[in-house]
Amino acid sequence: MKKIFAALLAGALAISLVACGTSSSTASVASAGDSSKVTSAPASETPTLDAIKQKGKIVMLTSTGFPPYEYLGDDGKPAGVDIDLAQLVADDLGVELEVIDMNFDLLIDALKSGKGDFIAAGMTANEERATHIDFSQSYTANGLLMVVAAGNDTIKTAADLAGKTIAVQSGTTADLYANDEVEGAKVLTFNTPIEAGTAVAGGKADVAIIDNLPAKSIAESSNGKLQVIEGFITEEPMAMGIAKNQEDLVEEIDKVLAAAVKDGTVEALTDKHYEIAGA
Ligand code: GLN
Repeated sequence: MKKIFAALLAGALAISLVACGTSSSTASVASAGDSSKVTSAPASETPTLDAIKQKGKIVMLTSTGFPPYEYLGDDGKPAGVDIDLAQLVADDLGVELEVIDMNFDLLIDALKSGKGDFIAAGMTANEERATHIDFSQSYTANGLLMVVAAGNDTIKTAADLAGKTIAVQSGTTADLYANDEVEGAKVLTFNTPIEAGTAVAGGKADVAIIDNLPAKSIAESSNGKLQVIEGFITEEPMAMGIAKNQEDLVEEIDKVLAAAVKDGTVEALTDKHYEIAGA
């Protein structure tokens, strides 16, 4: 786990450094005793944050079944890295966090229609999605892995996917990959990657394509039925999603994520939830 995270962190840090370089400070300081420099506040530059503070809560949209980022805890409530990171944003704003759990393929429409303030769902920031929503800085360098039945040695590289029955979570980058990049694949879609893994364990699919840590967590929890093929078949930054034209909320989330990556919080939360969810 440590080694995996070190590699992830190197990528995430590089991204956060770029983010820090572009942040700007708008505060201006009047010289001591010169009150004439203090002007009345302009119209709010943070309308989204003002509205969230007014409501007293920030609403996160997610999709559980994706450990360690989001899964159902023993109390039946969503838990995971994304929930804890979202709580840091809520704490920083002094508001409550509400979490709404839904199928992954509904998240972007739900955000666009105002059902929540942001998406935190291990979501890959990609160009197509960025035409619909904005993304925060990346907090984890992620990639897709292949998961096969234990002992299956017919699938070793992405080239071996051709013509296979592939299980994926609907609406994910794995779904896109299986449909767009693999010749002659039969693609079976499921609501969660756990169900995709179960299809492989039960012999209904040859292989599942799942994000890095969820793939490892699901394989570890499979009682030896599943194995992960090492090596990313894609590389994809994970980020949070924010509706268009809400720059103030993007900046707020970036600020919290940059600090959490830098001071080791993301690493600690990832280790913690991987242990809990994989148990
Ligand atoms: N990272 C993948 C995507 O964005 C899967 C995310 C998920 O299943 N929660 O499509």
